[in-house]
Amino acid sequence: MEDKHYSFLESVNRSFNKAAKFTRWEKGILDQIRACNAVYRMRFPIKRDDGSIEVVEAYRAQHSHHKTPCKGGIRYSEMVDQDEVMALSALMTYKCAIVNVPFGGAKGGIKINPRNYSTWELQKITRRYTSELVKKEFIGPGTDVPAPDYGTGEREMAWILDTYMAMHPGEVDAMGCVTGKPVAQGGVRGRKEATGLGVFYGIREVCSMPDIMKKLGLTTGVAGKRVVVQGLGNVGYHTAKFFREHGAKVIAIAEFEGAIYSEDGLNEEAVFQHRKNTASILNFPIAANLRTSGDALELECDILIPAALENVINGENAARVKAKIIAEAANGPLTPEADDILAQKGALVIPDMYLNAGGVTVSYFEWLKNLSHVRYGRMEKRFTENLNKHIIGQMEELTGKTVDAREKLLIEHGPDEVDLVYSGLEQTMIEATREIMACWHANDKIPDMRTAAYVVAIDKVGTSYAELGIFP
Ligand code: NAD
Repeated sequence: MEDKHYSFLESVNRSFNKAAKFTRWEKGILDQIRACNAVYRMRFPIKRDDGSIEVVEAYRAQHSHHKTPCKGGIRYSEMVDQDEVMALSALMTYKCAIVNVPFGGAKGGIKINPRNYSTWELQKITRRYTSELVKKEFIGPGTDVPAPDYGTGEREMAWILDTYMAMHPGEVDAMGCVTGKPVAQGGVRGRKEATGLGVFYGIREVCSMPDIMKKLGLTTGVAGKRVVVQGLGNVGYHTAKFFREHGAKVIAIAEFEGAIYSEDGLNEEAVFQHRKNTASILNFPIAANLRTSGDALELECDILIPAALENVINGENAARVKAKIIAEAANGPLTPEADDILAQKGALVIPDMYLNAGGVTVSYFEWLKNLSHVRYGRMEKRFTENLNKHIIGQMEELTGKTVDAREKLLIEHGPDEVDLVYSGLEQTMIEATREIMACWHANDKIPDMRTAAYVVAIDKVGTSYAELGIFP
């Protein structure tokens, strides 16, 4: 099947429209939910290391203000344009609604290939971009809170924080102006692996549903499942790690230069080190090379996890995908044509906008930490430990038996920040999965899980507008 050439935004809006008819909202409200409220397109000069001046193109889109602040990553890529940031900001609104993160969607982008710039130049670009956002009040702990995305990370978030604080001396909550920061600069433990861990929790919850698994011809549980991962970056690496640690077999990993396969299962860290040392994923000991990277997508497996780029499963290759579950860890890895083909084949597509929401969920935890000015677990860790010790002591005294030493250690251990972040994320992903599935089950006309996810999101945003009213 030939893919029609929708822009990314058109593609998101098509999914929205497909779902809107299963909701009870009038046209005007639906139009407002779908509309991107504000886009700031800017151009600013930077001085390059060789003394020349270059004009940089950049954006920040705020899709929705039904909850504030707005929230969304900042991307550094040559592909950045207004359509892309608007589409990604819309996905952020729906994503936050599904996982009950009380933010409106936003997204930023700078149209550069970061590899073409020195660290000093990147710092200047990041700081100038931040100052432009400050001038227009497009950043702030109560207005709009950026985060990392493609091409950015902790380093850029620290520069953004420093610039914001320099321009807002004495603002007590300034730390909450950006998330994804280094831990020493107000970041939260667990943020780095959050998206991959959220992907794992989401898929694990789906795999625990007997009716869904029966329909797919699979047994329940993740242990023993054969998994293929595309992209060994932040999201793919951590997703593979959590699947392996929970007894699944990662039988293939694809990178852009090629893919490797081993029926015995691959260890993502060993593969990562091999790629680092040899500059290629290929020729990994104990694994076979696949002819092309794309071949990995067509392997016989239980769960296929695209965690790299957009549009990798499309009208051309979707019919050859044999996985029973396709779990979208990346944003937009399936085209609308691929969606239709896979639905006809009876495969289950777990949609991106909720499955990869672990990052924004933990960003929310980071923002809360910044506003409360205290690390998670700091106040209660020792208290919980003492309380648990006391309870164990009482139990032993009453029963005359000694609690097993290992058990004792486990029960006594008061929560660290990372324990609380993981458990908050686990609960969030389980609740979201169940809510989407319940919506899907309640209406047998809803064709797929993606549409059900949109219905859930539209209903929540619609409820906000209905209850808040329209200003003035
Ligand atoms: P990343 O840059 O860390 O990793 C992407 C990896 O994919 C790289 O190793 C790259 O070499 C590889 N890759 C590129 N083209 C490929 C191809 N054709 N075949 C196989 N591999 C290929 O990026 P990331 O942060 O892991 O993000 C991956 C996806 O997940 C993106 O769509 C991103 O928008 C989405 N996402 C990321 C986060 C997050 O917290 N990082 C959150 C939500 C969604």
